[in-house]
Amino acid sequence: MSAPLFPLFADLRQRAVLVVGGGAVAERKVEALLHAGALPRVGAPALTARLDDWARQGRIAHVEGGFTPAWLEGVWLVVAATDDARVNHAVAAAAESRRLLANVVDDAELSSFHVPAVIERGALQVAISSGGGAPMVARHLRRQLETWLDDSWGALVDLFARQRQRIRARFPQLGQRRRFFEDALAGPLPQLLRRRQTERAAQWLDEALASPVAAACPGFVTLVGAGPGDPGLLTLNALRAMNEADVILHDRLVSNDVLRLARRDAARIEVGKSASGHSVRQEQIHALMLEHARAGLRVVRLKGGDPFVFGRGGEELEFLRAHGVGYAVVPGITAALACGAYAGIPLTHRDHAQSVRLVTAHCKDSLDTLDWAALAQERQTLAVYMGVAGLDGFRARMLAAGRAPGTPFALVENGSRAVQRVVTGTLDDLPAAALRHRVQSPALLILGEVAALADTLHWFGDAPLRGDAAPSSPALKDAAPTLAHAA
Ligand code: SAH
Repeated sequence: MSAPLFPLFADLRQRAVLVVGGGAVAERKVEALLHAGALPRVGAPALTARLDDWARQGRIAHVEGGFTPAWLEGVWLVVAATDDARVNHAVAAAAESRRLLANVVDDAELSSFHVPAVIERGALQVAISSGGGAPMVARHLRRQLETWLDDSWGALVDLFARQRQRIRARFPQLGQRRRFFEDALAGPLPQLLRRRQTERAAQWLDEALASPVAAACPGFVTLVGAGPGDPGLLTLNALRAMNEADVILHDRLVSNDVLRLARRDAARIEVGKSASGHSVRQEQIHALMLEHARAGLRVVRLKGGDPFVFGRGGEELEFLRAHGVGYAVVPGITAALACGAYAGIPLTHRDHAQSVRLVTAHCKDSLDTLDWAALAQERQTLAVYMGVAGLDGFRARMLAAGRAPGTPFALVENGSRAVQRVVTGTLDDLPAAALRHRVQSPALLILGEVAALADTLHWFGDAPLRGDAAPSSPALKDAAPTLAHAA
């Protein structure tokens, strides 16, 4: 094993750097050098149009002709970017004899320095090197990290850089300083910056530096939408929040595949309401959020779908606000969108539906309060949440309000999950079809002309089951048809 490279970040501002070669590769190198404020000197018989522009603007110096060691006079670094191996060799040898570091593009052996793959967020730079052995791997890793490092990192570095002197004066000892940084980073700063509240973040840091005792790091609650079940439907912000959480309060509806992606050390508390009832009352959920936030922890309240769509997210925020606890919301893909997509049902369609309504109808009371005349209008799609137990009442009221008995429906059970099932049919037959196929919670009802498209446009899992056909599994046929009273 040879010794590893020594990583360094060079200050090349106003320093001459020789680039040998005038093609596309040289152009990329020159661009990076200009970005770093260097003074590129480009030696080549001819230049690309862009290099030529830069030369005419005086941003680079063009040395015309073939390479001679005299080109190295007065430069700090050398880059050989020609497609002629002999020239590249000559450049590397000339640099070596003058003790200049040289990079030969695509030749790790000849290079005495390598250019890493870089991610930039303001003043923050993350450089990745494979030691010249496998630059593609470094680039691949960079792409993956790119998605993780949002802009707030740049703002964070900026903020601390501006207070650098003050932080040093306030915490002269390294140990103290380190603790201060750790507390500040574990506290509200990153969150504030991600929410684009730069002023408040600066204020927090100001106060933390002014107060004689280290500023308290208040707990924080993030309401996170976990989507319908397929972990691929989580947002990056949701993943980040789950990775930073100390405590995760999750609903029963949140899939195990999603929970597996959460930080391992995070405590998980299931507060989900089970279908039949309320396993943990809403007030208890409030109390749990408050207790953990007041203990200074980062709490993630993880909900199926989107927190603001039939998820009681509004009530939870009102409660947190009333108790002075900071919060943020990460939206999730709600069941209607996911079930539509995964069943091949476009919720709107120029030929069939101009609007879509998200409706909930989980008990008789909620059925009674709905505006049935409005719901029964044609050319609209209804996405009915929690409707499995009340399908009889739903059908009767829809028909009474004038929706045609032949209106197509689709029941999407476990949408986006491996066990997804879709049952299609017409309104008249809706409760019977659900019973026949023993549709269970969680299931979403999609009613409207678009629902029929599932029969042709489906792409995920099995083809839709026809509501009026007998279930194919003998085990199910024999089982007593009981409609799940689950929601
Ligand atoms: N906040 C959630 C909805 C909570 S209400 C969201 O935005 O999706 C719970 C109801 O959502 C369930 O009874 C069911 O009707 C629907 N639902 C949630 N996830 C589902 C899934 N994967 N497949 C089908 N329906 C689902």
